[in-house]
Amino acid sequence: MPFDCTRCGACCREAFDAVEIAPDDPFVSLHPDLVITTPFGKTGVRRDGDRCACLTGDDPYSCRVYADRPQTCRDVEAGGEACLWARKRVGLE
Ligand code: SF4
Ligand code: SF4
Repeated sequence: MPFDCTRCGACCREAFDAVEIAPDDPFVSLHPDLVITTPFGKTGVRRDGDRCACLTGDDPYSCRVYADRPQTCRDVEAGGEACLWARKRVGLE
């Protein structure tokens, strides 16, 4: 893996304003308390300030629902385009 996600967490915190998920993503029924309607009117994961409410810690970071994380999160590949963009947004190379 090109980056250590536990030392980064960019895509789970302020790099993105929201984590949108499909309304039929299994996460919705598994964790209804963590599902919101985003300011853009989409289904999303609840935020805690500028970070996902599921993110715990601060270097190291971890996802407390990692095994159940939405498909949106699974689609962000470490070292991939979205990852590199997220890292840049928080000032990481
Ligand atoms: S931005 Fe990339 S390196 Fe950072 S946590 Fe997300 S996938 Fe991992
Ligand atoms: S659900 Fe987990 S992997 Fe997805 S943004 Fe939140 S903390 Fe990150």
